[in-house]
This record gives sequence, C-alpha cells and structure tokens, in this order.
Amino acid sequence: MRLEGKRCWVMGLARSGCAAGALLRRHRAHVLGLDDADEASLHARWEREGLTAAAAACFDEIRHGGDLPEPAWSAPDLVIISPGVPGTHPRLAALAAGTPVIGELELGARFCRATMAAITGTNGKSTTTELLAHLVRATGRRGEALGNVGRPLCLAAEELGPADIAVVEVSSFQLESVETFRPRVGAVLNLAPDHLDRYPDLASYYAAKQRLAGLLPPDGLFVTWTGCPEAQAWPTEAGRLWFGQEGEGAGVFFRDGALWAGGPGQAPAPLLPEAELAQRSPTNRLNALAAVAMGLGLSLEPGAMAAGLRSFAGLADRHELVAVRGGVRFVNDTKATNVHAVCAGLAGHHGQVVLIAGGSGKGEDYTPLRGVLGAVRHVVLIGAEGPAIGRALAGAVPLSTAADMDRAVALAADLAEPDATVLLSPACASFDMFANYRARGAAFAAAALKTGASPP
Ligand code: ADP
Repeated sequence: MRLEGKRCWVMGLARSGCAAGALLRRHRAHVLGLDDADEASLHARWEREGLTAAAAACFDEIRHGGDLPEPAWSAPDLVIISPGVPGTHPRLAALAAGTPVIGELELGARFCRATMAAITGTNGKSTTTELLAHLVRATGRRGEALGNVGRPLCLAAEELGPADIAVVEVSSFQLESVETFRPRVGAVLNLAPDHLDRYPDLASYYAAKQRLAGLLPPDGLFVTWTGCPEAQAWPTEAGRLWFGQEGEGAGVFFRDGALWAGGPGQAPAPLLPEAELAQRSPTNRLNALAAVAMGLGLSLEPGAMAAGLRSFAGLADRHELVAVRGGVRFVNDTKATNVHAVCAGLAGHHGQVVLIAGGSGKGEDYTPLRGVLGAVRHVVLIGAEGPAIGRALAGAVPLSTAADMDRAVALAADLAEPDATVLLSPACASFDMFANYRARGAAFAAAALKTGASPP
C-alpha cells in the first residue's frame, strides 16, 4: 500500500489513533488528526496515557470537536478510524462516496509480515492473548500480544518478521472496519450480552464478532468454545476446533485431571496435568484450553506449550491473588465488569466464596448470578447497583451492603471461614466509586492488607 504524499485523516486520537498516525507519517503521508474532544481534554488524556510526546509527532494538524478541516483537507485519500469511533459518525457520512475508510487494525495488518492470530469474545480476550503470546515465546519464537492488551498493531507490525507471531486481541468494533486482515487462526472465546450502548441489539453485536470466522483462510483454523453454539454454527472456510467439553465435540479439554489436546483429525493426547497449570481459576482454565487450541493451529510444539502453561504469570485484575490471611485468600477480579464474567468465575469454583459485587450499571439483568451461587456463602454489595443486585439475589444467599471498599472488604474478611476466598467480582463498571477498574482493584488490595492480610 503506497501512502507517500497521500492525505489521510485519523479519527479518534488515543492509543490506536496515535499508532496509526505514526505509521502513516513513517510512510510520508500527510496526516490530519480529528477528535471530538476539545484540546484540553485530549491533552489531559495523552498526559494520563503517557502519549504526549508520541502524539505530537504523529499528526501534521489536529482538529477538535465540531471544527471542520480547511479545504485542503476536505477530500482525504484515506480515513483511518480508531475502535472508539462508530461507523455512523457524522464526519464519515459527509465524506465523498468511495472514500476508503478502514480501522487502525486493518492499516496495521497491511504492513504486518508476521503470522497473525486473532482473539475475540465477550470475556477473556486479554488473558488469552497474553497467554498465547507466552506459549509462542515458550517455543523460542517471537510472539507479541497486540491490540487492546498490548501495543496497537500499527506500532508493532513493521518490527515483526515472517517467522514471528502477532497475537491480536480484537474487539467487535475493530472487526467492523477490517477488509484484508487475514489471521491464520481466529478464536471466539464466548458470547454474552455486552456493549448494548453501542449496538442496537444483541444480534448486531454478535454479527460484528461473526466477521472473524469469515476472514479466516482455507488453511487456517477457527477455534471456539463448546459452550458457544452460536459461534459453532458460523460458516468459515477454515478448519474448526472446539475447546471445552469432550462429550460435546471438543478437541482440547480436561479429562481425568489432565489437559488433553488434539488438532482437527488428530487423536487427543494428554498435554500436562491440570495441577501443573500456573493459573487455575475456572476462567483461566478455559483460556488455557483456548490458547492451546490456537497453538495447535499455529503448529506450536506441544512440549513447549506445556512449559508455557506451567510458567504463565496471569494478568493483574483478573482472578489475581492479592493477599492472604491465614487460609483466607483475597482475589481481585475487578475486570469482571459484566454478569457473564462473574458467572464464569464462580461456576466450578472450589471452596467457599464471600463475593463483593456492585458498581455502576450497564443495564444488565443480574438474575443469571442466582445460578452460580453454589460456592457463595455471602454477598457484600457496593455501589450504585448494589440494590439492584440485592433484589436479583434476594432469598438465594445472605446479603449485606457496605458504603465503601474498606468496609466491604473488612466485612467480607469477618464473614470468611478459614480456607474461603474473598472475591471482588463486581459485575459492574467502576465509575460510580473509582476512576477506573484498576483503581477499584487497587482499593480492594489495599483494603485487604488493612484487615491484617499479607501480600501473597
Ligand atoms: P477481555 O479482554 O475480554 O475483557 P479479560 O482477560 O480482561 O477479558 O477478562 C475480563 C473478565 O472476564 C475478568 O473478570 C476475567 O476474570 C473474566 N474472564 C476471563 N476469561 C474468561 C472466560 N473465558 N469466560 C468468561 N469470563 C472470563
């Protein structure tokens, strides 16, 4: 793709937009950056995200808010949109018919010589992306986690060579704006209601995810979970491999205390004992299966994958053990901002749990939580959605309410029997009480230490 001398717009000037701008400038395009935020807010965002220096060098000009570009910029040769910019943005509607509009991911993919693996789904994308990149590195090859969880593809694409593997976390938004992106292996980890603020209905959200199956080449591999019948039914030219329940057709599954793996047309064989997985929460076990299935599609050597599973450190804020007091474990799953993530973490949980849940709502129905309370002895409710969750769980489990995180954790610690887990898994966003989910996780860990617990 020749970019030299082309006039390009980049819409949405956060991490992805700056990465796209940098790639375009490296190729001597002229770049206009556009963002709906005013100058002060945009600069504050760059400051927060450590982007200030990079951003200044990415664009020839920047326009804010409703400002329209001068005539010289009004007919761009190419428009790059960041994942946060909806395809319905009025600026896009005003472009001349036929103006190419692509996402940052598509731009990066056009300059990427590495083999690509793509991961989407409602929950578990970041964890599985990091895990698969770790498994690639365990084989001695270069593997990089890219997309939302790592660097944007546009920043890394040209550093990677043909022997490397780019493991890319892709959101439904990014799948809407790709054309020639052809990952060799693609996984849909699971599907559950989310982002209903951006999509008119669930079917449109799932349709965006479905694009991934359609992008895969005939010699590629489509991976999904046996718990996801919608994705199992999607047409694809690629081969198919399921992970999950052996009895439901999975080629990668747990049996008799071991993780078993077999690619399409292969007899599954034990890969490693379950007890040797470095990360063993219910969700991390699923993600281990998904990453191994994808690894088979990338022809990663099984022994190296087993070594990678033994050494994977896991991600902060997702079922992260942050403190212990006697036999009580304090586990931070602040990233569980929807009901599905909480359910997946509780289903199959061993031992007793005191759950801390609540925060700001996304209009979700909390009643599915009633189905996964087997291990839960008590729920401590926090935040704006505390009452709504309380109504959904009434009669199913003892409930208390706490005014802030310190009090919630102190109460949960008092209620926890020796050997129980105090689990922060909120089912909600954090903005009612915290700047973001990370700050909420940090407050939980700090509150745990105040109860006399020690770092693990
Ligand atoms: P994403 O990038 O899709 O948001 P993360 O890896 O950041 O995924 O995890 C988000 C939340 O989902 C966390 O609460 C985590 O514990 C939970 N989670 C992780 N893997 C899965 C899975 N396979 N199924 C359901 N929930 C999961």
